Amino acid sequence: MAPENSTENPPENGGTSQGLTLPEQVALHVELLRLAGVRFLPGDPARLSTMAAPPVNRPSPGGPPQRPLEASAPATGRLADMARSQQPAAPPIDPPPPIVQPKPPVRPVPAARPAPATPPPVFTPPKGGGLFTLEQVGAPLDSLPVLDSATRLEMLEQLRGEVAACKRCAPLVSERTQTVFGVGPLDAELCVVGEAPGANEDKLGEPFVGEAGQLLNKMLGACGFERSQVFICNILRCRPPGNRQPLPDEALACNPFLVRTLELVRPKFLCLMGATPTRYLLDQSTGVGVLRKRDLAWRGIPVQATYHPAYLLRYPDKKRDAWEDLLRMLDRMGRTPPKAP
Ligand code: SF4
Repeated sequence: MAPENSTENPPENGGTSQGLTLPEQVALHVELLRLAGVRFLPGDPARLSTMAAPPVNRPSPGGPPQRPLEASAPATGRLADMARSQQPAAPPIDPPPPIVQPKPPVRPVPAARPAPATPPPVFTPPKGGGLFTLEQVGAPLDSLPVLDSATRLEMLEQLRGEVAACKRCAPLVSERTQTVFGVGPLDAELCVVGEAPGANEDKLGEPFVGEAGQLLNKMLGACGFERSQVFICNILRCRPPGNRQPLPDEALACNPFLVRTLELVRPKFLCLMGATPTRYLLDQSTGVGVLRKRDLAWRGIPVQATYHPAYLLRYPDKKRDAWEDLLRMLDRMGRTPPKAP
């Protein structure tokens, strides 16, 4: 049994009141620091344990036994600071790899569209609603140089010869018996313009000589005119096959002959019978039913539109309208119809 006042020598490595030796306490702190995230280099814990080892509390000879030294709190904090100071430098952080943005899918370049073809020119109808423009724009006839009658008759005969030799319209030339130039006096007070020669006209060489011509003579007589007082002609000087209507190119080809005829004859008034003369001389596509009520003119010459005698033969109910047109024409001419006997 140990003496009462004897005491056991503290272990060399020191003991604590908690039952842990100082190295164990150091190891505990190191572990706590590890848990707190402090990192140590290899060998540091052992070194720290050595550094933290308390000095051996050797009992003084004869003295009372000394209590083992306890590691003080500052010492423990110093250990933690040392542990932190011994933390290895953070390994260099490699720069994050560059973020590679996925390239958008390459869209196929659409093939270049072919340039649009040049649009065809838009046909612009001439002013006045006509189908096309003819050689009809010119000075008023009364402004042309005054030629004596003999000269004009001579020029008119020359023109008649040109027409007789004309071969501009091959289909008509191959079918015609002869050309139909026109008939009537110079300076006629009235000039009647029809469509084209028919079978009888083609045979006789004179316009309006068939049944339609006889009706025309009656219409002129009702107006107080003798046929011989009126200059009578057509848009065409050759008969169209089958008495068809003149084609536009035929009317264009023959129009200069009509214009030169009128320039030499110098009529005072024009009566256009049917849609063909209003279309190709006045350049008007409007129907006769509308034009007949208008005050028309061609190069300064007043014009009255009315139905063709051949049309009146097919539609006799239109004769009343035609008579109204003639009365209108006479009124514009300053004439009065003769009283019926
Ligand atoms: S219609 Fe007139 S242009 Fe045509 S061939 Fe006869 S005269 Fe010549």
